[in-house]
Order: sequence, then C-alpha cells, then structure tokens
Amino acid sequence: MTSLTESNLVEHPRGAEPGKPGDRRAFSFEQITRLPDTADGKGRGGARYGRTGIIHTPHGDIHTPAFVPVATQAAMKAVLPETMKDLGAQCLLSNAFHLYERPGEQVLDEAGGLAKFMNWNGPTFTDSGGFQVLSLGAGFKKTLAMDVTGMKSDEVIAEGKERLAFVDEDGVTFKSPLNGSLHRFSAEISMGIQHKIGADIMFAFDELTTLMNTRGYQERSVERTYRWAQRCVAEHQRLTEERLGKPYQALYGVVQGANYEDLRRHAAEQIASLDFDGVGIGGAIEKRIIGDTCAWICDAMPESRPRHVLGIAAVDDIFACVENGGDTFDCVAPARCGRNGAIFTRSGRYNIKRAQFKHDFGPLEEGCTCYTCTHYSRAYVDHALRAREFNGFTLATIHNEHFFVKLLDDIRASIDGGYFDEFRDETLARFYANGSRG
Ligand SMILES: [Zn+2]
Repeated sequence: MTSLTESNLVEHPRGAEPGKPGDRRAFSFEQITRLPDTADGKGRGGARYGRTGIIHTPHGDIHTPAFVPVATQAAMKAVLPETMKDLGAQCLLSNAFHLYERPGEQVLDEAGGLAKFMNWNGPTFTDSGGFQVLSLGAGFKKTLAMDVTGMKSDEVIAEGKERLAFVDEDGVTFKSPLNGSLHRFSAEISMGIQHKIGADIMFAFDELTTLMNTRGYQERSVERTYRWAQRCVAEHQRLTEERLGKPYQALYGVVQGANYEDLRRHAAEQIASLDFDGVGIGGAIEKRIIGDTCAWICDAMPESRPRHVLGIAAVDDIFACVENGGDTFDCVAPARCGRNGAIFTRSGRYNIKRAQFKHDFGPLEEGCTCYTCTHYSRAYVDHALRAREFNGFTLATIHNEHFFVKLLDDIRASIDGGYFDEFRDETLARFYANGSRG
C-alpha cells in the first residue's frame, strides 16, 4: 500500500535544485505551426500570429492554444483536480488575492507551492490580484470584452456600491471584502505573495481600468502600470535569487490600454522592452476589436514569449484571439454558468432547467465523451441542480469545462492540420445558429 506522501502527488518539479536559485531554462516556449497569411495582412513574415506550440514549465508542458480552467481559491468548485486531469485540463489558474486572504500565502509556501497544495500534478498560473483589488474600487464585475455604456469619468463606480479600493502611485489600498480590514497591494507585495504561492506562471501587478474611464486617465494608468511592471521585474529577480531550491517561476507582463490602438501599441512596446517571460493581454476591450487588440500587441512582442488572454468571455472571442496570437485563455464562465444550469454544446448554449428536460434521459450533449455525458442523463442533471445537490454542480461543471478544453484541443489540431479557417467558420456558424449567447 502506498502512503499518502507516495501517492500520485506532484513529481519533483524541474528547475529546482537544493541551495540554488530556480533555473530559468525550465521555462520556455516552443513554437510549432503558424497560421498561413490571409488577405487582411495581420501578422508577421507571411503568417498570421495564431500558432500552436508547447509551453515548458517546471511542473510539465502545456500544448497551446490551451484553455486554462480557473480554480480561484486553489479549488475548482465541486470538482477534484484528478477529475480535471481526466477531462483533459492541462493547467489551472488560481487567484493570488483570494489565496492571500485565505489561507494566506505562507501556508502554500509551507505546502511546497500551489500545485502540491491542491494535489494538481501539472502547471499552474496565478493572476496578480490586481483585477480583484481594482474591481473593489469600481464595484463592477469586469470581463475582457464589455459593452461601452455609461459616461466617461475618472471616478467610475457602480451605483449603490461603496468604493473599497484607492489607487496611488505606489499601489492600491483596499478594504477586505471578507472582514472589512484594511490592506495594501503593490508591485513588490504582489510579487512576494505570488512567489510564496509558487505557481509556474505569474502575472505582474497592473492597474485595470474600465472602458468608462477618460482617455486621460487611461494614459496615466498605462504609464503607472509600466512603472509597476519595472518594479515587478526587479522584485521577481530579487526573490528568484533569494528563494533557494524553488523551481523557476515565469513572470508575464500585462498590457493594458483599454480600446485605444495607440495606447495598446505603446503599452505593448513598454512591456516588450522589459525582461518578462511572457505577456498577459488584460483589461477591458470592446468585443468588436478583441482580435485586432491581440494583433497590435503581437506586433511588438518577440515570438518566443507565450501570450495569455486574461478572462476571455465567449466562443467567438476565443477564435478571434487564437487567430491573432493568443496561446492560453482563462475563463470562469464554464463553471459559473454550469452551476446555474447553462450547458455549452457545439450547437449552442441551452438551459438544462427548462421543463422539456425533466423526462429526457439522453446526455447533456449527443456525442460528448465527458464523464457526465457517458454516465448521466439530462433528467438527472436537471433534478440535481434543482435540488441544489452538489452532484448537479459537479456534473454540469465537468461537462462545461470539458467543452472548452476540447474546443481548444480541436482548434490546436485544426492549426496543425491546416484547416483552421474552415473549422472556425463551421464551429461558429453551428454554435450561434440559434442566437446562442456565450
Ligand atoms: Zn459532456
């Protein structure tokens, strides 16, 4: 019998040697296939930015383009990491701000890092905490693609919300939503927290704006984010040298600039000039220019740096971002929607709690190979969700996460196989045929 410590826990990570700083060579990106050029000319050297590749990390490889499920608090709600592995997930993203609040980064450091702590045998990401901290400021839930509504203002705050975060040159002061206590985040603090959490890929601390901030505020914010990025790189290098025997953690710089082409290009050049391992495409972007925004950023970026699109929202956005150079994508929607009964299928999104499914003993999606669809019926998932049984959350989440993981696997195969454009057109036509959202 194997003891707990000998069970299927994480293998010894590459890039970690006792008494030595993490070896940076344990992280790299290998490009495999570029998308051939099209008439509109976005790209470089006769090819579009879209590509397949492999991100090598100390805890294993990520074949890209890849979907990154979000395990916010080092836990996928209602689904074990073992199950995420079984459904094909290659990596998970957790949130530095939530883990700082609870259980505290020290606990993750003692555990041997995020992957080991949550029994995930594979690569992990943490976001910097900036998104959550700054969201407290505006009281909005923001995703990457958003509608432009409301007035332009420097003081953007949702109606009826108390402002919980204040930005200054050095960082952000905020009130904890858990207990109301006062906290401070800065470039150095975020780096310190993320190093202790120990994910393979971390993000620089940036200021997130909304599309409703004024142009002047966006300009000041981009410059501030650049200064914070410089401080993140310096602190990251210091911590890498100081924390001996730990695997190398890669750091991605984040490009902001909202929906202004000149600001995005300027911010991308700033981030490209710094010694980052990869780039995060962040902030609010109008849906209609989401692909263009990726291309503007790729124009400035060396190809050797992997590109992560933060908080992607929808199936058509994923295709637009992949085509224009996105390598990895995280999104909370599959799990969050699943818990509310919204089921993603290749023929669009539907709600399992509609009356017609009460006596339907077919799978959530005909032909789906996920554990839910091969073992359970629509009638059962509908019942379990209505009864608010955890099994309902588990089964709906497994199917939806599998949908996005498999979608990115199929996109990857289509790029390598030379049929991406056809696959994109067919997939989008079918998914949106009935006016489906998502
Ligand atoms: Zn399924």
